[in-house]
Amino acid sequence: MILILTPEIGSDSPEFRQLSDHLASLPKIRTRVHQEHGQQQTLTEIYLIGDTASLVVEDMQSLPGVERVVRISEEYRVLGRHKDDQRPTHFDYNGVRFGQDTLNVFAGLCAVDTPEHVEAMMKALRDNGQVCTRMGAYKPRTSPYAFQGHGKACLPWVFELAGKYGIKVIAMEITHESHLDEIREALEKTGQPTGVMLQIGTRNTQNFELLKIVGRQQELPVLIKRGFGITLDESLNAAEYLASEGNRKVVFGLRGMKTNMGDPHRNLVDFAHVPVVKRLTRMPVCVDPSHSVGSRNRAPDGILDIMHATTQGVITGANMILVDFHPAPAKALVDGPQALLMEELPLFLEDVRIAREAYLKRVALYRGKD
Ligand code: PEP
Ligand code: MN
Repeated sequence: MILILTPEIGSDSPEFRQLSDHLASLPKIRTRVHQEHGQQQTLTEIYLIGDTASLVVEDMQSLPGVERVVRISEEYRVLGRHKDDQRPTHFDYNGVRFGQDTLNVFAGLCAVDTPEHVEAMMKALRDNGQVCTRMGAYKPRTSPYAFQGHGKACLPWVFELAGKYGIKVIAMEITHESHLDEIREALEKTGQPTGVMLQIGTRNTQNFELLKIVGRQQELPVLIKRGFGITLDESLNAAEYLASEGNRKVVFGLRGMKTNMGDPHRNLVDFAHVPVVKRLTRMPVCVDPSHSVGSRNRAPDGILDIMHATTQGVITGANMILVDFHPAPAKALVDGPQALLMEELPLFLEDVRIAREAYLKRVALYRGKD
């Protein structure tokens, strides 16, 4: 059960103390307080854990400082959607809104290589009205001998270039807690010219200790990818780890499942799960067509498989697209064969716009039938 307090109730107010004393007297109930610090106000929620079945919603509703009570029916306590749950399904970060009703494109390099390539990418994004990108600095690779990413060394110039081209959010995978510190330090040293959305890759979806550390900071939002060989429920529980530690600025990413049943795609595209994740949780949902499809193969209609997969995600309500581009794919150090080309960016964005419009028309169609 969640008690949502009236916004003006601070933890040093008499109402809060009265409420805490009452909750402490309830048998077999533990509490956990979560505070969300917004620009104008701080929102406080108290999670009641334990024998909550015996509690009556109306009784809890009448306690001092309580605005609303949500009875938790699902497993994902913080991120889940519960009955009569009107908690927000969006968050704002560095001037960009991420919600179940918005759509942001993160086109960029799978791996940062040269300043020239990063600059060409960011310039193309700015020229096409984009404010988000993907830039991998820490790359988890199958072979220990493969390029592992430039790591910490590239962060200052990547962030400065982002500032130069008005990029507000960079999705960047981290594979170790030290990377979080390195990113925060580089952002600070360069004067916060941009923002970073930390990416938990599919190989680390169930790295619970990493999730706890990333979840304990509330500054940077997180994109957590679905684990490639685990159930959806297991991946949603992994996302819940982040939120249970305090960070609920979480986007859930679908990137395909590892099975040869998806051949010739690199992974079996799972974008039909976009509406499922939106129904089960309050997280915005991202699709990654590049790592799902993994090639530049083209259908007889002239459209790349990657673009078909992208629009399949968008027409079903995806809120974010993470997609690999490269100015010179033959020279890319990671995943060149699946990269889209600079000249394909306007086409890609127009295709996404068409699919988004179709999605919104579909929503209006069904709403009209209510
Ligand atoms: C990536 O986005 O660069 C990546 C490695 O993706 P995934 O974790 O889904 O394989
Ligand atoms: Mn890649």
